[in-house]
Amino acid sequence: MVDQKFAKHCCDYDMFLKRAKKEFEYRWKMDFKGRGSINDFVLMRTLGTGSFGRVMLVKHKEEQNELLAMKMMEKAHIVKLKQVDHTISEIRITDAMRFDFLIHLEYFFKDNVYLYLVMPFVNGGEMFTHLRLQRKFDETMAKFYAAQVILAFEYIHNLGLVYRDLKPENILIDKDGYLKITDFGFCKKIDDSRTYTLCGTPEYLAPEIIMSQGYNKSVDWWAIGVLIYEMSAGYPPFYANDPMKIYEKIVSGKFVCPQHFSKALKDLVSNIIQVDRTKRFGILKNGPRDVKGHEWFRSVDWEALLQKKLKPSYKPKVSSATDSSNFEQYDEQKIRVADSEEFPEEFAHIAIKT
Ligand code: AMP
Repeated sequence: MVDQKFAKHCCDYDMFLKRAKKEFEYRWKMDFKGRGSINDFVLMRTLGTGSFGRVMLVKHKEEQNELLAMKMMEKAHIVKLKQVDHTISEIRITDAMRFDFLIHLEYFFKDNVYLYLVMPFVNGGEMFTHLRLQRKFDETMAKFYAAQVILAFEYIHNLGLVYRDLKPENILIDKDGYLKITDFGFCKKIDDSRTYTLCGTPEYLAPEIIMSQGYNKSVDWWAIGVLIYEMSAGYPPFYANDPMKIYEKIVSGKFVCPQHFSKALKDLVSNIIQVDRTKRFGILKNGPRDVKGHEWFRSVDWEALLQKKLKPSYKPKVSSATDSSNFEQYDEQKIRVADSEEFPEEFAHIAIKT
C-alpha cells in the first residue's frame, strides 16, 4: 500500500518543482552582467581550494555582521585549462538557482585578473572532514543527509541540469546540521539531450562516463548511490590507488557491502549502483520515487525535512555564525594585479564596475 503521506509529498513536490522551474528560467534569461566589486569586501582568510581557485572568507563593508564565502578564479588559469564555458555556466546556474540545500550567488564580478563568485558562508565545514573524523556515519545520519541530496538533485534535474561532481568535499554542513551542496563547476544545462564530457572525480564516476557512452542525469543517480555507500561505510565502493584500476572496478560494477549495512541499505545501494541503466533506481519509469519510496527511507518525513523541521542527530561545533574553525588552515597567497583587463573577450558577459 502506498503511504498516503509519501504520496502527498510526491504530489506537492511535483507542484513546487514546476513553480521552481519557471522562477529559474525567468532568472536564467535575465541580463547576465554581474553585481558588486572587490572594493566592497574585506578579505579575511582562505577557507578552501578547488581545482580552479581558492575560496576566501570575506565581509561586506556595508553589512559587517554577515560573513560570505568568495570564490576567486584566475581568468588565465580558466582559459589555460579550457574551462571558460564551464565557468560561465557555473556562474549563470548558481545565480539563477534558489533551493535551501544548494548554494547560490549573492554577488559575482570580475577585475583585471580574477572572476569572483560570492556566496553565503556555510560555517560547519565540509561533510568530507566530518566523515573522516567520525570514520563513518550511522544509518540514521547517512539517511538524513542522503534525503537532502536527493531533494536537491530532484530540483537540479527538474531544471534540465546535470551536476556531475557529487562527493563529500562538495557538501557543506551548516551550523544547524543541514546541508548545502557547493561547486557547480561541472554543472551543465542539457535539458533533454545527452553530454559526453569526461569530468568528475574518479571514485564517483558512472560507468557510462568512463565508457564515453553519452549520458544525462543517470550519472548523478549513480553518484548518489556511491555517496550513500561512502557515508555508511566510511570508504567508497570502488577504490584503488591507480585511477585506471578504479575505472576497471566501476565498469565491472562489482562491489561488496560491509557486514554492518542493514538489509534495506544493501538493497538500495545495489539498485542505484547499477551499471545497467535500464535497471538503475532513480531513472526508471517512476523516477526518484523508486529511491524515495524505498524501504531504507521509510522513516523519512520528506515534507518536514524540506521545511527543516527535523532535528539533526549531529550539529557541527560552531560558536557563532562567524566561527570558521571547521575549515582547515591554508597558506595565504598574494593576490595578483594587472594594469589592463586580461581575457576581455572570453569573459565579455561580465562587466567591470567602474
Ligand atoms: P570549490 O572550489 O567551490 O569546490 O570550493 C573549495 C572549497 O571551499 C570547498 O570544498 C569548501 O571547503 C570551501 N567552500 C566553498 N564554498 C563555500 C561556502 N559557501 N561556505 C564555506 N566554504 C565554502
